[in-house]
Amino acid sequence: MSVALANTLLLVAEALLYFAVFAALFRLRHRFGFGVFVCALGAMHFLETYLAAILYLDFPGGIAFSPGSTILFAGKLSMLLLVYIREDAAAVRQPIYGLLIGNFLMVALVYIMRQHQTLLPLSEAAPDFALMNQMGGMMIWGTILLFIDAIAMILIYERSAHWFGNRMLLRIWVSTALVLSFDQVGFFIVLYVVVDAPVSVLLGGWIGKMAAAVIYSLLTAAYLHWFETRREPARTPRLADVFDMLTYRQRYESLLEKSGRDALTGLFDRGRLDGDGPGWLDGALTGGRSASVLLLDVDHFKGINDGHGHAAGDEVLRRLAARLSATMRGTDRIYRYGGEEFVVLCDGLPHGAALLAADRLRRDVAAADVGLGRGVTISVGVATAPTDTSDFTSLCAAADGRLYQAKSRGRNRVVGRESLRDDRAPSGPETPRGDPATDLGRA
Ligand code: GH3
Ligand code: MG
Ligand code: MG
Repeated sequence: MSVALANTLLLVAEALLYFAVFAALFRLRHRFGFGVFVCALGAMHFLETYLAAILYLDFPGGIAFSPGSTILFAGKLSMLLLVYIREDAAAVRQPIYGLLIGNFLMVALVYIMRQHQTLLPLSEAAPDFALMNQMGGMMIWGTILLFIDAIAMILIYERSAHWFGNRMLLRIWVSTALVLSFDQVGFFIVLYVVVDAPVSVLLGGWIGKMAAAVIYSLLTAAYLHWFETRREPARTPRLADVFDMLTYRQRYESLLEKSGRDALTGLFDRGRLDGDGPGWLDGALTGGRSASVLLLDVDHFKGINDGHGHAAGDEVLRRLAARLSATMRGTDRIYRYGGEEFVVLCDGLPHGAALLAADRLRRDVAAADVGLGRGVTISVGVATAPTDTSDFTSLCAAADGRLYQAKSRGRNRVVGRESLRDDRAPSGPETPRGDPATDLGRA
């Protein structure tokens, strides 16, 4: 076997081992805590810098790169992206800042330790201060770069939803590859200054990092596909919000409030709806899309509580929430609005389509078993921007008014605006007919 082939196989084995262990730690985060994963990630950092300072693999064509930057550095970025994708910006900023601060602390400590006068080496190998200097320089620069890389990667990942929709592999690969390319140029500068690295290292390192980006993207996409199957309500945060969160510019209290999930159903709660709603609507309208709000309320729910007990009522709500998540599109966002009231935000859904979706939901819930051996009926009010209004609060109020009409007309029905005709073009004229509601009746 040629040396290059053997080296390649060894690198692949290293990447697989690295990914397998970190993916397993991440997968078990709910059992053992997120700290295990983060500490393991931090522990790798020293090896990464050490290897980047001393060990380069030689490939044909004058290509040389270090396993430190290909396996460990690219792997670490992939892990940070994975944390962001499955958790959120508030989770991923913890390792990002921890690595930054930890590395600065290490460099500062080494600087002070070098002032000791009574060094007694344990073996004949004297402490290599030249190497420590190199590593210190690389650590400071590499750490600042990592900080910029991680934030840029997450912003590019979010932005890439516009380019690639929900094709995860493409989004992961593009954000990782772009950031690793930027990093390679940035890191080469310090290698050139500190260890006088030849230009071939710039190209070699880039090739190594691009290969790592392909391997880690494939592994991450496969892991997400097979091991993280829990359905999340889709999120399309504003880039500015993600940036504020990553850089701790958002106050912690507002974060807590915003990350609010309802304990009973696991859906986002009312506080989250109030936080997300206006931005969600802005996003749809600036993109030239219609956006619909479905507000639904279970019919005669008090009767269920009275007849079957509160625990059975809770179970109905839980199953109803699961039903909603399964029936609506992946891009719809579902919130528990109040007791037995839910809100669904549908980006890109004009009024007519929203009425049909709501009615499909109504029939689906009626046909499903929600724990009582039967379904329950729901009433739904539907309002659509921009034809009803372009203001989120008014849009919810319009949906609420129509929900009220659905109740007063006998329940188990969907009510929307009467005129559906001008609804296809989001920029179309406001409906001239005031607000007599249309009633999809009952099945
Ligand atoms: P309507 O058809 O007019 O909607 O009749 P309703 O009985 O459903 O009336 P309403 O929507 O006003 O009642 C909501 C009831 O839901 C009141 C409350 O006891 C019950 N509820 C609210 N939150 C919970 C909860 O978390 N668990 C249970 N089991 N019941 C709840
Ligand atoms: Mg009700
Ligand atoms: Mg109610």
